Amino acid sequence: MNGWPHPEWCAQDHQCTVTGTNPAGQHRSPPMRWNTAYGSLVAVRVQDLNGRHWMELRAHVRLGESDLATQEQASQLAVQVDLAVRRIALRPKPSRQAITGKAKPR
Ligand SMILES: [Zn+2]
Repeated sequence: MNGWPHPEWCAQDHQCTVTGTNPAGQHRSPPMRWNTAYGSLVAVRVQDLNGRHWMELRAHVRLGESDLATQEQASQLAVQVDLAVRRIALRPKPSRQAITGKAKPR
């Protein structure tokens, strides 16, 4: 036992690098994979030793056939993914009251 138990979602195998002696350890979920109309999306949930939560995303996206179309698609894809992540990751956090229905104790 390392004193930092695995969260329920952690793969608890070689993917998790939390040990009693590894200061860079991370809990990591098993990869979640979705086959999509454009290719596939793979997500891994991560929590570092400071308690910060992360999501790693890897998208496999089929692009156009011509070099020009492919470059335009790749550029637009990167920009739109960045905008989508910003909308979710940087939005104001909901208040405790909005989540629990209870005001912060005084
Ligand atoms: Zn773990």
